[in-house]
Amino acid sequence: MAIETKVGVYLCSGCGIGESINCEQLSQVASKECKVPVSKVSPWLCSEENVEMIRKDIENEKLNRVVIGGCSSRFLSDVFKFNENVLVDRISLREQVAWAHKPNDEDTQMLAEDYLRMSIAKVRNSEPPVPFEKNINETVLVVGSGIAGLTSALAAADAGNSVVLTEKEDKLGGWLNKFYKVAPTHYPYLEPELPEVDNLIAKVESNEKIKVIKSCLIEKISGEPGNFNVTLKINNLQMEDLTVGVIIQATGAKPYDPNKLGDLGYGKFDNVITSIQLEEYFKNGSSDQKAINGKPVKSIAFLQCAGSRDEKHLPYCSSDCCSNSLKQALYIREKFPDALIYIIYRDMRTPAQHELFYKRVQNEDNVFFTKGDVVGINKGGNGSMLIDIDNTLLGNKIQIESDVVVLANGMVPSTLVGKIESGNNEPAEEGKTLDGKKAAASAEAGAKILNLTYRQGTDLPTLKYGFPDSHYICFPYETRRTGIYAAGSVRGPMDITSCKTDAYGAALKAIQVIYNAKQGKAVHPRSGDQSYPEFFLQRCTQCKRCTEECPFGTLDEDVKGTPLPNLTRCRRCGICLGACPERIISFKDYSINMISSMIKSIEIPDEDEEKPRMLAFLCENDAYPSLDIAGRNHFQYNPNIRVIPVRCLGSVNTVWIADALSRGFDGILLIGCKYGDDYQCHFIKGSELANKRMENVQEKLKQLVLEPERVKLITLSIDEYEKIPQIFNEFAEEIDEVGPNPYKGM
Ligand code: SF4
Ligand code: SF4
Repeated sequence: MAIETKVGVYLCSGCGIGESINCEQLSQVASKECKVPVSKVSPWLCSEENVEMIRKDIENEKLNRVVIGGCSSRFLSDVFKFNENVLVDRISLREQVAWAHKPNDEDTQMLAEDYLRMSIAKVRNSEPPVPFEKNINETVLVVGSGIAGLTSALAAADAGNSVVLTEKEDKLGGWLNKFYKVAPTHYPYLEPELPEVDNLIAKVESNEKIKVIKSCLIEKISGEPGNFNVTLKINNLQMEDLTVGVIIQATGAKPYDPNKLGDLGYGKFDNVITSIQLEEYFKNGSSDQKAINGKPVKSIAFLQCAGSRDEKHLPYCSSDCCSNSLKQALYIREKFPDALIYIIYRDMRTPAQHELFYKRVQNEDNVFFTKGDVVGINKGGNGSMLIDIDNTLLGNKIQIESDVVVLANGMVPSTLVGKIESGNNEPAEEGKTLDGKKAAASAEAGAKILNLTYRQGTDLPTLKYGFPDSHYICFPYETRRTGIYAAGSVRGPMDITSCKTDAYGAALKAIQVIYNAKQGKAVHPRSGDQSYPEFFLQRCTQCKRCTEECPFGTLDEDVKGTPLPNLTRCRRCGICLGACPERIISFKDYSINMISSMIKSIEIPDEDEEKPRMLAFLCENDAYPSLDIAGRNHFQYNPNIRVIPVRCLGSVNTVWIADALSRGFDGILLIGCKYGDDYQCHFIKGSELANKRMENVQEKLKQLVLEPERVKLITLSIDEYEKIPQIFNEFAEEIDEVGPNPYKGM
């Protein structure tokens, strides 16, 4: 049974609000028109005394909804927090009304009154979220045991969690096992160091909280954060089932296939080797003191960027190869002190303290650095190689003769299959193969490592070049699968120190997921949100829009197409709510009804009053905060636009647009995050989906015989807040030219 709502309205006249708006008149709108039982104005609402007054009113008047009109909700969020059964809404009277519009003006007052009506409608049509309760397993599954996997496992165990560490090989350590030494990781950054892999393996294997399973592949993972059901295949035959709470994928990177580097002589000449082959030579301690690959070493050339930063191969920098060649140059200095060492580079990239190491190697005898592009590599006399180099620092071509050539070949993530290697740099569309065919409920387009039983594919979706993606500015650790983190060089090319830092980050993020799931709370970007989507499935038509559009794979579906929510996977973006044509998905505090009632509460002046009304849906992640920042800068803009914050532009259901147009709004603006390759959408696909839905909106406009200019979608990042006045003013001018909505007053 729905609980009766009792709303208290508290308006602040401080911070210049009272000098711009008639707060007493505003209060009368609350008490007389909206009939709220308590409506008060205070000159300093955030004072201890006034907050205490609100607390007492809540208790004495049995208020269960509170509307605060004052500063933006981005300020003093802890001050205006009351008990969990009291729903609070904040109106930005300061940033979005008083500071952004002409003081004591009729339009400014009307704007404030509409925002008050909208807020009261909002709290009356929503409920405090009741968190779901689930039994949550706290075990961390780490897949892959290279430096990132070992470090993540130890970090999670040190934090008190049980850990299961799986490794596909019969030995822990990954690629690092092949390394003789690593580039320096400690001050003074001058000497190569022995890899600490054996030490880390010993720590992991002796840690009581860590269960190690080798020769193990993941056969299947189903479930959700807090309850992932994992089936392991061990020694290629024995199956083992376990339940874990979160997953860290630390499956690393692999060297770029040198067979694709035939133009640099690999595969044609046996004294052209890769840096990992040279590493193994030193690691294995060859008994031949004079030869590498059977050849005497009087000279050796390292070719940097072999396959990296090259549109024909890997367009990105592989990050670690320069430091690696510097380190290997020192191996040569030690073992073949008379050998001439050439390092042929396009740019030496030795970030941070690696620069100290670079300087130290520059000062070594017999080490020659040559900037240029390798344009040819051929056999010379005595079995040596002749390397032709163009675009050198002096501008002329040179030729270097060398006994051995080492290709510093780049790295590709273990999640990459058949993309860059096929010569196609475009990422495969999620759930599709590279040629655009629908993958059979799998990530045929990517590597099968986790074998998730998710409707949207078996593995972490990746961006270009096969790296699992994340919001590159705000959430660099995140993947599109809640509770599954990528750590180390699977996530991007990185050196050993960065892999370790990354592993700690992933372990901490993974543990946060467990604790949030225990309390029914969302993780980023709506961290702590306890609302979740509820589906009124009796009216579901199994259209599959929600299951297809959820960017986080939250919704599986039954054979008929009915959504099967996995709530701890959910990020609470509301994109499913925006997608559902039947309007049967809602959150306790965010629903079709809530926004519709806000739209209905806005007063639409008659046409002859010549006061147009426009509605703007602003994404709460970048666009809505931008509006506050614009207000704080006292930027002035058109007062005839009413703004509704939304969880994501993808959560805008087109019914709201249709409703608003039939109510007589003259224009509708949607402002959200940027989409495309370098997307900034906090829910990955939300603003892109909203843009796709604009086609239906334009269809609707045609049916209503309304001009296409009346609905417009714009993307904005938070640092573009200075564009807000221009966007609002230009839209208002465009609508002015189009003229009033003919449905006004109908
Ligand atoms: S709210 Fe977002 S993450 Fe959750 S089910 Fe809906 S679309 Fe998926
Ligand atoms: S979008 Fe709505 S109607 Fe379609 S499958 Fe999902 S819940 Fe059912």
